[in-house]
Amino acid sequence: MNGNIKLGRIAGFALSVNWSVLIIAWLLSWSLATTSLPHHAYGHSEFTYWLTGLGAAAIFFASLLAHEVAHAVVARRHEVEVEGLTLWLFGGVATLKSDPPTPRADFRIAGAGPAASLGLAAGFELIAVGLQALDTAHLVVVAVAWLAGINLMLGLLNLIPGAPLDGGRILRAFMWHRHGDQLRATISAARAGGVVAAILVGLGVLEFVVGASMSGLWLVFIGWFVGSAARSEGADALTRANLRGVEVCDAMSVEPVTAAETMVANELLGTDAVGGRHSTYPVLDDRGNVTGMVTLDRVGSVRPADRASTTLAQIAIPLLDVPVAAPTDSLWSLMDRLDATPVGAALVFEHGNLVGIVTVGDVARAAEARRVENPVPRLVP
Ligand SMILES: [Zn+2]
Repeated sequence: MNGNIKLGRIAGFALSVNWSVLIIAWLLSWSLATTSLPHHAYGHSEFTYWLTGLGAAAIFFASLLAHEVAHAVVARRHEVEVEGLTLWLFGGVATLKSDPPTPRADFRIAGAGPAASLGLAAGFELIAVGLQALDTAHLVVVAVAWLAGINLMLGLLNLIPGAPLDGGRILRAFMWHRHGDQLRATISAARAGGVVAAILVGLGVLEFVVGASMSGLWLVFIGWFVGSAARSEGADALTRANLRGVEVCDAMSVEPVTAAETMVANELLGTDAVGGRHSTYPVLDDRGNVTGMVTLDRVGSVRPADRASTTLAQIAIPLLDVPVAAPTDSLWSLMDRLDATPVGAALVFEHGNLVGIVTVGDVARAAEARRVENPVPRLVP
């Protein structure tokens, strides 16, 4: 994500915060200091309201973080690697490197976040009641009660059953458990996410138009975010589902056009191959061993003045960084490796010999062909 600031580690997880959090922090403090707090506990100075508002907003972000840490801790317990935690405009995200291994793990990881939020809500409510009984300043009681309310809302909103919300993941875990098919469960949860998004946008527009309320716009934004995340998750799962049973050899281009590593950039741009259907070339050393891969984009990024003196060896992606597959590997598993690198293509070897090349485009075409042949049935939205 652009505009993320790394803030070190929490419970062993890398934490970054997007600058957009500052806007939310300011909006929350402002609405607390100028509206909610003076409304419920009057008679304090503006400074006191702002101080209390800022403090409550800071504790709110800590609560948000606790929600994400809960996801991450449970994920780690189920041996799902966590890339990191991010706080941004729409709350927090714990980024997992892979899908949970079982429906049970999926359910526990997803449920941990809302459970933490609801636990915090109960905790703050107890503290508020206790403080009130102790005759603490009403302003503090109001702020703590606000924290209870906002954590309750956070927990409940996240339980709405549509991906990418936690409730959508829980729905996926249930369907995965029932039908034993993770991909179909993911597709259904994503479809449910699309419905949730449409409802949120609808409610937001209604609130904005009828209620003339700016929070309606906020709902529209959240709905838009949920909808686009649900669409991309659904499309990804659909591609994977379509690729089941397809092997790398079904999608690869055989006998790829290669280039010698001593060739200069100009030479490659001048060969017949360019303008043909290839944009990615395995690079060979003088003994015919593959040492890497070069893309036309990479060659094109060399300054024209340097193209006569820059060899492919200088600009090739080293073989170590190129995804490699066997012809009988599943295309689905290769997709993960392709997604994990910016290279955009994989080399296919059989018994140590280069036999083919698969690009991201080849994978997409194979998935599309399979989709036309045998569409994945709709389950539930
Ligand atoms: Zn969550």
